Amino acid sequence: NEVLLEAHDLRTWFEIKKWGFLHVGFVRAVDGVNFKLHRGESISLVGESGCGKSSLAKTIIGINRPTDGELVFEGKSIKAASDGDMSEYKSEVGFVQQDPYGALPPFMTIQRILEEPMIVNGIKDKAERQFRLEEVMTELKLTPIVDFLDKYPHMLSGGQQQRIVIARSLVLNPKLIMADEPVSMLDASVRVEILELFRKIQSKRELAIIYITHDLSTVRYFSERIWVMYGGKIVEQSPVRELLLEPAHPYTRALLAAISEPDASNIDKFKKVPPGEPPSLLNPPAGCRFHPRCEYMIAGLCDKKEPPDFELADNRITACWLFKDKEDASDVAI
Ligand code: SF4
Ligand code: MG
Repeated sequence: NEVLLEAHDLRTWFEIKKWGFLHVGFVRAVDGVNFKLHRGESISLVGESGCGKSSLAKTIIGINRPTDGELVFEGKSIKAASDGDMSEYKSEVGFVQQDPYGALPPFMTIQRILEEPMIVNGIKDKAERQFRLEEVMTELKLTPIVDFLDKYPHMLSGGQQQRIVIARSLVLNPKLIMADEPVSMLDASVRVEILELFRKIQSKRELAIIYITHDLSTVRYFSERIWVMYGGKIVEQSPVRELLLEPAHPYTRALLAAISEPDASNIDKFKKVPPGEPPSLLNPPAGCRFHPRCEYMIAGLCDKKEPPDFELADNRITACWLFKDKEDASDVAI
């Protein structure tokens, strides 16, 4: 399958200043990320809070400009993109954020909210706008359409609001949707319904999706591949099935062990395991960022030298010294 988006050593750092002028350091929210995302592919991006997932999301959709490295979309680098090319890129990439109510302008009608991106992007033909608007509303089961158009966001349920946000992200026919914990603020009863709807739209439109989540239990229904992020880096990339059967990176193993505990449906619990704190992105540990929490740490190596990406069989990649000379996740018995 054709590559849609690639990241090469992507970095997004934020400068921290004291009293507004004194340089304290950089928060290395995204710090050397490499990936290839294919057309129509669904990826789940998982990891604890504070590991850089949302910063990576904002870098990919063009809200944050990368400090270093580059993104290549359909073979074109967007590093030195002009404003015009950048806005074209942004129209190819939709964004669905966590809090639907916060994402919707409260004083606009649903009609206006869904039309706005098309007006901004120069779709002048009113009939064309109306056609697209009705098309996405139908796909998202926001019907009968006329019942919604004159309403304001606060008049809708949380699930309906999030479907409006998704509809809005689709009106420009993007090739990629970035969905940052799209259902985590909704009632459990509507989560599955929305994810299923999203999944259907994704395959029908051949849309690539990066789905950011805390909830590993939804991943297998939603994605072909999974990326595990830790300390500003992607530490494991794998097809979902292989990763769930045989996680490679010790951090991934700890995450899976945590969700297979009886209490694992509780999302907050996920944040507490594995033991220890996620690394500071202002002063990350030397070597492998997971080493202070890793029970397999090789002294003199893991705490000194950053592990590169090692390629395993079955399209798997992991950044861990245990895989230095290994082909297969099962070769490393831990
Ligand atoms: Fe653990 Fe070393 Fe692998 Fe890091 S590189 S996860 S410290 S074994
Ligand atoms: Mg976040």
